[in-house]
Parts: sequence; structure tokens; C-alpha cells
Amino acid sequence: MFQNLLDTYKLKEVQDFIHSRSEKDVELALGASKMTEEDFAALLSPAAEKFVEPMAEEAHRITKQRFGNTIKIYAPLYLSNECTNSCVYCGFNTHNQIPRVTLTKEEIIQEAQHIAGLGIKHLLLVTGESPKQVGIDYMVEALELINKHFSSMAIEVFPMSTEEYKIMYDNGVDGLTLYQETYCREKYAEVHPAGKKRDFDWRLHGPERGAEAGFRFVGVGSLMGLKDFRTEQFFTGLHASYLIKNYWKTHITISFPRIRKAEGNFKPYEIISDTNLVQSMLAHRMFQSDVGLVISTREPAQMRENLLPLGVTQMSAGSKTEPGGYSKEHDGKQFEVEDKRSVEEFCNMIRSKGYDPVMKDWDRSFLLGA
Ligand code: SF4
Repeated sequence: MFQNLLDTYKLKEVQDFIHSRSEKDVELALGASKMTEEDFAALLSPAAEKFVEPMAEEAHRITKQRFGNTIKIYAPLYLSNECTNSCVYCGFNTHNQIPRVTLTKEEIIQEAQHIAGLGIKHLLLVTGESPKQVGIDYMVEALELINKHFSSMAIEVFPMSTEEYKIMYDNGVDGLTLYQETYCREKYAEVHPAGKKRDFDWRLHGPERGAEAGFRFVGVGSLMGLKDFRTEQFFTGLHASYLIKNYWKTHITISFPRIRKAEGNFKPYEIISDTNLVQSMLAHRMFQSDVGLVISTREPAQMRENLLPLGVTQMSAGSKTEPGGYSKEHDGKQFEVEDKRSVEEFCNMIRSKGYDPVMKDWDRSFLLGA
């Protein structure tokens, strides 16, 4: 398990190591034919900020070689904003006074039809953690209702057991996104003061359980702004690397969620600059050529355009972050979307930059007879 590997590191030592890397260490990393963990640490260090240009050239070269000029497009569908957890950075925190909504069958169909009508074929289903309102049965029912509209459905919901992930898989889910939020146990306990999410290890094992259940892709990430981002990105990279080595049939992706304005007005530990975000992305691409890199509509339009040639492989478009938000504007968002362009506008921008928006890269019928 990745937990065994993670527990062999002392976070403070790793942080000190990253922050002590010199320009010479970065130059050695840039010239390395096979990148080591130490090289990865050097690319994430403050010393590497001067080297963002050569890193960008290399990340661009690797991405073009491995992924061509393609950007996979997806959109989220929020099923419910009910949540029994109290994550201090999240708008759905159980203590926040927001209108709580769990979509009815009719509303689920309406939202799915709306999203499908935008040309979206890759769907990400999102909920909070509230077993009474949104349990396994609710999820299965929702999947049955919308299955026919999408060629690929992923989930970003509460962590499940392997058996429960298998139920999701048998009902058409082929991908899982599960951010650890932070790889520091103390910080994790501080920002998750109550609720089931307090269980650090249960969450940490989640991506492995998902890969064991058969998901075609699994996404990991840390919430940028909770703790020293360089150290968090280092452990995110190790987590992805562990999954790539142990679950070769599953495509691993990394996301870069920066803390955004949300109900509850949480103040981040540090402000993540655009340079910090870019450097993190470039370092991941150079460390692991085949990992997918995901940028959502949390990022502003101009930033997303600038990131296009730097290694990104998947982007959301036209997103709404509240249940029922596609059919009608509501309160009760998880966070504020920054890039508010429509799917069509966004895809036109991608094409104008010489990239192909990929609306469909998978069909469930590929599994028939497997
Ligand atoms: S981050 Fe997830 S689990 Fe935590 S309050 Fe928000 S929706 Fe609930």
C-alpha cells in the first residue's frame, strides 16, 4: 500500500530537502536522462523558479510526444451538496448555512440532458458525503438514469470499499477522482475536524481500491494552499508514481486545485501564485511522462489558455458547481468557477491554439466480451 511508502518519509525532512536544493541541483535534474525523486524535488524547489522556461520547453516536448495535441473535455454534474463532514475549506461543510439540495430523478435526467446537449460525453459525478441522502443505492439509480447520455462516467464522491467501487464499475463508472487534500497527517486532522473524512488512511487507500475495482482512470491531487505546496506536490507525485507502477492497466491523473473563494471564507495557509502552479505542473510532467494532468474551471480563462502548451491533458468546460446548476442558477456552490465560458467557446479557443478538444475517447462497448 502507498501508506507504507508514505510512512517511511518524514515530512519536515522532505520539506527542508526541497527548500535546500540549489541551482546546480536543478541543472542536474534538467540534464538527467532518467529522473529520480531527488531530481523531482529539485524541480519543485524555489531554486527552480528561475528555470521555468527550459522546464516548459521540456514539458511541452514530452506532452506532444505522449499525448499529441489533444485535450480531453469533461464536465461535472453535482448530484447533491448535502454533507456530514466539516472540511474547513469547503462550501459544502455541514456547518455552512446554504440551501441543501439532492437532485430528484427528474432533476438528474434534466441536468444530464442539458450537459449532453452541450456535446459533453465525459461526465464527472460529484456529491458530498451524506450516506442517508446519497448512498450506494442512490448512486446506482442515478447511473441507470443517465448512462445512455455519456460514453464515460467518473465519480468524485465519498471514498468507497472495493466492493462498492465494483458496483459503480458494473453500473458504467470507469473513472475515479479522489484527492488526498494534504499528505500531512497533522494538517489533515486540523482541516477535517469532524465526520467520516477524518480517517486519513481510508481516504489514502481509496485510489488503490478504485484501481483494484477495475477503473480505467484514477485521479489524485492535493488541495493547493493547505500546506507547503512544494512538499504536497512531491508526495502527490510519489502517490501517482506508486499507482502507475502497481496498477499498469489504470491511467493515473493529477489535478491542481487551488483553494478558491467558498462559503465559510477559509483563509489558505499560503497563496499559490500562477508561477507556483505552472512550476508544479511542469515538474510532474518531467517526473512522469505518461501521467494525465487536469486543470478545471477553478482557473481563470487566461490562465487556462496559457497552460495549454505546458503539459495539461484534460480540462473541464462549461462547469456548474451546485446541484441543478445547469438547468437554473442556484445558491449553494462548492466553489466559484473562474472560467465561465461555454463549452463551445472553450473548444473554439482550444482549436484556435492548434489543439484538438476530445469529446469522446472511450465507449463502454469496448468492454463487451472482455
Ligand atoms: S470537501 Fe467533500 S467531504 Fe468535505 S465538506 Fe466538502 S463536499 Fe463534504
